Amino acid sequence: HSKDRGRNTYNFYTHQMNHDMDRRLKIEEQLRSALKQKEFEVYFQPFVDIKSRKIIGAEALLRWNNALLGQVTPDEFIPIAEQTGLIVSIGQYVIEVAFATAKKWQQTYNPYFKIAINVSPKQFRENTFVDMLNIQLDKHQIHASTIELEITEGVLLSSDAVIDSNLISINDIGVSISMDDFGTGYSSLSYLRSYPFNTLKVDKSFINDITVDPGDLELVGAAIAMGHGLNLTVVAEGVETEEQYHLLNALKCDYGQGYLFSKPLPQAAFEALLLKQAKNEKTNKRSSIRR
Ligand code: C2E
Ligand code: MG
Ligand code: MG
Ligand code: MG
Repeated sequence: HSKDRGRNTYNFYTHQMNHDMDRRLKIEEQLRSALKQKEFEVYFQPFVDIKSRKIIGAEALLRWNNALLGQVTPDEFIPIAEQTGLIVSIGQYVIEVAFATAKKWQQTYNPYFKIAINVSPKQFRENTFVDMLNIQLDKHQIHASTIELEITEGVLLSSDAVIDSNLISINDIGVSISMDDFGTGYSSLSYLRSYPFNTLKVDKSFINDITVDPGDLELVGAAIAMGHGLNLTVVAEGVETEEQYHLLNALKCDYGQGYLFSKPLPQAAFEALLLKQAKNEKTNKRSSIRR
């Protein structure tokens, strides 16, 4: 009996491994033609000023819809794009779309509208990255101060001269750098000390339980205070409830992002949201004049 069970377990694992390998290979293969086939769409999720709840910017989040595989989440395809090097061209595509969209919304809605873009380690290690960034800023006539690049600790894990010089150049041209998923890595604190960050994004795993876990609330409060002490803007990720919002407001968190405000949206739906906000502002102004 035990032999049978052993064999079944073995079969189960090889079966599972084959299945995983198969899917990985399929994703890799489909990913190679995805740009050409126009299978990507850049979604935008607003972030709001905590005090006023006004939308002040958006994070660009990539979506991939493939004929064979259907919708594949970024958590699944980004690591494969990274390992195969495909992320370099995919990432440049995201930057192009995000900049074009930023320009549009800056012209029609708010000249200071901010766009945050996720950048992978492989992209950041390219010595042409900053040149590409400059070319795109110039092409779309975007003010550098409205752009924020989000990096995770993974970018800084392997110390690398190109990464260091890219970070310095990016800071020099006035583009902001944000530490994404703050608190989930091993050495976030030492990186904050050594690199020119402008923004801290507190990971949503810390925000999730602030209303029920006093320890998490304490940690988020400490992260906000520390960020402010270092002159950083602090963003809370994954804000889902009014209760979380009220705590973050009391803790003087600067910006918030999460389903409470909006899920990531296609461009047109995001524009509808901006339009709605602009209309509300007008009505509020009118009624306050009447008062
Ligand atoms: P991230 O940069 O930390 O982005 C935030 C993720 O949290 C997004 O997942 C967003 O949809 C999700 N989220 C936002 N608000 C809430 C909320 O209230 N509750 C919950 N449960 N989730 C929320 P998404 O879009 O699936 O992206 C996952 C990750 O994939 C991103 O994490 C980022 O690391 C990566 N990614 C996405 N787009 C790109 C890209 O263009 N380039 C690179 N290099 N990475 C990307
Ligand atoms: Mg991000
Ligand atoms: Mg994050
Ligand atoms: Mg993340």
